[in-house]
Amino acid sequence: MSNIEGKVIAITGASSGIGEATARHLAKLGAKVVLGARRTDRLETIAEEIRADGGTADFKPVDVTNREDVEAFVQFADKTHGKVDVVVNNAGLMPLSPLEALKVDEWDRMVDVNIKGVLYGIAAGLPIMKRQGFGHFVNISSVAGHVVFPSGAVYCATKFAVSALSEGLRQENSDIRVTVISPGATESELADTITHDETAKMVDGLRASAIPAQAIADAAAYAIGQPAEVDINDIIVRPTVQA
Ligand code: NDP
Repeated sequence: MSNIEGKVIAITGASSGIGEATARHLAKLGAKVVLGARRTDRLETIAEEIRADGGTADFKPVDVTNREDVEAFVQFADKTHGKVDVVVNNAGLMPLSPLEALKVDEWDRMVDVNIKGVLYGIAAGLPIMKRQGFGHFVNISSVAGHVVFPSGAVYCATKFAVSALSEGLRQENSDIRVTVISPGATESELADTITHDETAKMVDGLRASAIPAQAIADAAAYAIGQPAEVDINDIIVRPTVQA
């Protein structure tokens, strides 16, 4: 039996891209996946397809900017399966733009989803994991959580924050594993959130060399599949051609 089989894994942002690929992959490896996002129709289809393939999948609508929603989502996983082994805090958005464009609403959105969404996931999962005496957070950061680039100030700040709070979480909890996965350009719908034309064009170039979301799913499975006493803390996965 693998270290993934039978694990209850709640994944936010599971309706597309990296979250969807991760849910499908972990389910194939025998995990009981619980999918969360706002687009319920997509979650329903993905969960049905996983089940048709012999896997175990449930879903619940969740807006990660709403603390009660995230609490209810993780509680749903716990109530459905009697434990929560892993919370994958993956939901995110990336409306890149230069600060001078003053897209302040988008700054707010990134802070709300990329930082507060992860914090709410931790707030929901931590009490359950402390009660259990085990648990694992997989927080999706980015290469942008390691380097800053023009038009990326706010997005990078949110992803640097994911690293900082993950490290704090790790240091404070010797019974809980904490993994940060930092993807580079990966096939998904993420760049669709860019409303600044010049930046969107710049990112289009990167999209051509994007790696499949499966590469990130593999990284998540690697971390989750380790023996209980082995804590994989940081993984960067990017296209070979990405600077
Ligand atoms: P997608 O846009 O394909 O997926 C984003 C997911 O987040 C969707 O499932 C979306 O679901 C969900 N989401 C967005 N806002 C909310 C919200 N308020 N509440 C709940 N769910 C929400 O992009 P990716 O798969 O690429 O993104 C996943 C993560 O990977 C993000 O954190 C992103 O920053 C990170 N990442 C991606 C990279 C890439 O190149 N693709 C590179 C580096 C990091 P819905 O709209 O249905 O709610």
